[in-house]
Amino acid sequence: MRLYHDADARPNILEGKVIAVIGYGNQGRAQALNLRDSGHQVIVGNRADAYAARAKADRFAVHPISAAVSLADIVLLLIPDEVMPEVFASEVAPRLRHKCVLVFASGYTVAFGLITPPLIVDVILVAPRMVGAGVRERYVEGRGAPAFIGVAQDVSGQARAYTLAVAHGIGATRAGVVEVTFAQEAELDLFTEQCFGPAFGHVLTSSVDLLLTEGYPPEAVLLELYMSGEFAYTLEKIAELGMVEQATLHSTTSQYGSMSRGIRFQLPELREKLREGLREIRSGAFAREWAAEQAEGAPTLTMLREAAREMPLTALESELRKELGAAATSEQPVTVEPTGERTLAQRRRLIARLQHLVSRIARRAGRGAVMDPPSETAEGPTAMARTGASETAHPQAPLSESLRPEPSPALGRATLERVLGAFLDDATADRALQAFAQGRSITTVYRMTDTDLAFSLRFAEGKVEGALGAPEAGAEVALSMTTETLDGMLSGRLNPTRATLAGDIRFDGDARTALTVQRVQKDLIRLYSAARTRTMG
Ligand code: NDP
Repeated sequence: MRLYHDADARPNILEGKVIAVIGYGNQGRAQALNLRDSGHQVIVGNRADAYAARAKADRFAVHPISAAVSLADIVLLLIPDEVMPEVFASEVAPRLRHKCVLVFASGYTVAFGLITPPLIVDVILVAPRMVGAGVRERYVEGRGAPAFIGVAQDVSGQARAYTLAVAHGIGATRAGVVEVTFAQEAELDLFTEQCFGPAFGHVLTSSVDLLLTEGYPPEAVLLELYMSGEFAYTLEKIAELGMVEQATLHSTTSQYGSMSRGIRFQLPELREKLREGLREIRSGAFAREWAAEQAEGAPTLTMLREAAREMPLTALESELRKELGAAATSEQPVTVEPTGERTLAQRRRLIARLQHLVSRIARRAGRGAVMDPPSETAEGPTAMARTGASETAHPQAPLSESLRPEPSPALGRATLERVLGAFLDDATADRALQAFAQGRSITTVYRMTDTDLAFSLRFAEGKVEGALGAPEAGAEVALSMTTETLDGMLSGRLNPTRATLAGDIRFDGDARTALTVQRVQKDLIRLYSAARTRTMG
């Protein structure tokens, strides 16, 4: 294992060189300030707007991007990866001088072939493992944020020395830098975003859901799991001391409990899902999908953002954050007042607001009010908080429950088969679905988890084919759910994106394709509802 530090860098290789920082956003501002404070000559390239004004206020000479590139020996490209290929082609590449050094803070665009730098320049990577604000803060504190470094093209014969010198200038070698390839940096970054983070997110939302279902007070659940900041603090300690050593900061009960029960969560399927995500990243399939999504104006991203914002957990978090005030967002862990020390009025207000909020969410989802108003008796809120679930039948609407459709008369297997048969017949003849099938080739299979029923819908070359049973092979998307969830989704009582996020629909296959099919969700609802009414009377 090798980390490079200050002593490995030769900062004087940058002497007399003009460094142009292109973009003055998160990384741009932090790196420009750090490089200047390290004694280097820095100019900024940016369009004339608020970012440029900020750079001027920070006393930098600001130029249009192409002019800054023309003046520079070292060019740091610190604009968003999504816009970088276009800006690079039009404003950067034509102005690059022979043996100039092109510095990326992310390997993404080069690794996935979105940018191919000309062969006359050095191409290097200095990618901080920290948001821009942290890069600056740590530098000012004398610490520095770690970074990945790499060389993709060495024309000057000095590319590696430049890499270490830039890393030194932004303070990264104070903490330590690791050498990787552009592809490794990009893949690791995407893996964290697409596999590690979401897997962890599901553990969190499943835990919140379970605990609320079991009647624990929402304020206590969210504080216990993460909003107190204790968990973030533990992660910091893991980074500082290591997994095993940090455990000694906790009680022996905690150590015994977490190690002896941890074995339960060694789920082989989880590893397989992580591997699947990594494969998609390494093959370039994700980069291609994302480029296509952006070219269409990011409709899927918009849909996902809306669904995530509508999750009941988002509303609960926001309510609790307001109650906690700035404390919950501060970096320091919040000290939660012992129950007895919080005033009765405060407790009553918090519980009432959370209950009101949860019942509003439940009502919106069509389940009607589920909670009694908070008691105003003398022992009111204290008693209620102490006894939790027993005071009201279901004091907190479970998150997953509030997402589930209103129960409908159970559909027996034979009835469901008849409804689906009629629905699929209508779907194959439907004009709107045929129009959607133009220029596409998508097969979706729907599997019921509580019966052995399955059916598929294929949209290809202007035709729609529907069949009971699962296709032999070749479905791009597979959705598994209970009959009740399927019926709720196709009757329009349940939002499929939200249900997927809540874990009620299990999805395998290509995410973007699955979400593309949602564009005809209204037509599927129209056809299914008509077939259901006709069949069931
Ligand atoms: P930002 O989103 O903060 O970049 C904003 C800057 O980009 C502004 O100066 C903005 O200026 C400029 N910009 C945006 N759109 C355009 C455009 N179409 N044409 C020209 N300029 C544009 O980017 P980040 O700092 O987040 O990311 C920069 C690089 O750093 C990326 O490669 C990223 O992967 C990498 N990185 C980012 C990290 C982070 O914490 N955010 C961490 C590690 C690496 P204006 O709109 O005024 O033109």
